[in-house]
Amino acid sequence: MDPLISVVAPVYNEEALIREFHERVCATMDSLGEPWELILVDDGSGDETPALLDAIQGEDSDHVVVVHLARNFGHQLAITAGMDYARGEAVVTIDSDLQDPPEVIVDLVKQWREGYEVVYAVRAEREGETWFKLFTAGLFYRLIQRLTSVTIPMEAGDFRLLDRKALAYLRSMREHSRFVRAMTSWVGLRQSGVPYRRQARKAGETKYTVRKMVRLAIDAITGYSTLPLKLALWSGFVAAALGAVMAVVLTINRLGGTAPLAGQGFTASLVLFIGGVQMVMVGILGEYIGRIYDEVRQRPLYTVQEVRRKA
Ligand code: UDP
Ligand code: MG
Repeated sequence: MDPLISVVAPVYNEEALIREFHERVCATMDSLGEPWELILVDDGSGDETPALLDAIQGEDSDHVVVVHLARNFGHQLAITAGMDYARGEAVVTIDSDLQDPPEVIVDLVKQWREGYEVVYAVRAEREGETWFKLFTAGLFYRLIQRLTSVTIPMEAGDFRLLDRKALAYLRSMREHSRFVRAMTSWVGLRQSGVPYRRQARKAGETKYTVRKMVRLAIDAITGYSTLPLKLALWSGFVAAALGAVMAVVLTINRLGGTAPLAGQGFTASLVLFIGGVQMVMVGILGEYIGRIYDEVRQRPLYTVQEVRRKA
């Protein structure tokens, strides 16, 4: 029987937690009394995770599908792969580190039954996060709201339910720089949120390094905003206006016989300033062009080593 609900979880070096995760998903999903599947996407783990996943799949082959990606592609691509393999009428994406309590899926499904096509789990509280994570996350969401045209519900992560209708649209979006939260918001349809308490990570450590977070932020901004490009135009206007004013001042000074505006130091600082602004703008252009280059190659989003599922 085809599953009604697919649960998709990205797994990257989670050997300490993955068994407990599977158990709690089982308990929750069984309580719903509908056919379900669990798609565990191994995102190129380097610890015991791959072997553990295969063992879990062997023991619970009625429910568990394991997709081994060929290397580490990152959280956003791992959930994309999982959604591609899902067969359910509704798909729930959830972190495998138990920060998103699987029990909340019951509430998501309830809202889905009421007719919502997208149901976000919204973090009403976060437990055990560092001040650095909270600060950068806050800054990030504020920046996204300001700079881009999409509205992402504040404090909604990648824990959500998608109806097959929303899923079909999301699957058709094959861009490489992916920020699934914004893509989901872009799809529209009837969206709703369910509050939950985000738990502290029980074991292991966050796989989101500062580098990965910065990458995600740049992806989100360049993907949904052309504001950085407009900066170049504005700074061009400002520099040109400054230049014009200075020319007038210099001319008046000269005609009035007073001393010239300033010496070489002043000239040098101007050259550095304008040069710097130009370099920054070229860099911003480069970010966009690099992304265009990434997209036009039309490579697959991820590569798969092996899929394990019941024959
Ligand atoms: N993850 C992944 N690939 C990565 C990094 C993370 O599949 O390159 C998974 C990880 O196993 C977890 C989820 O994505 O299930 C969220 O990652 P993490 O808990 O490290 O991020 P945080 O909750 O700290 O933002
Ligand atoms: Mg986590």
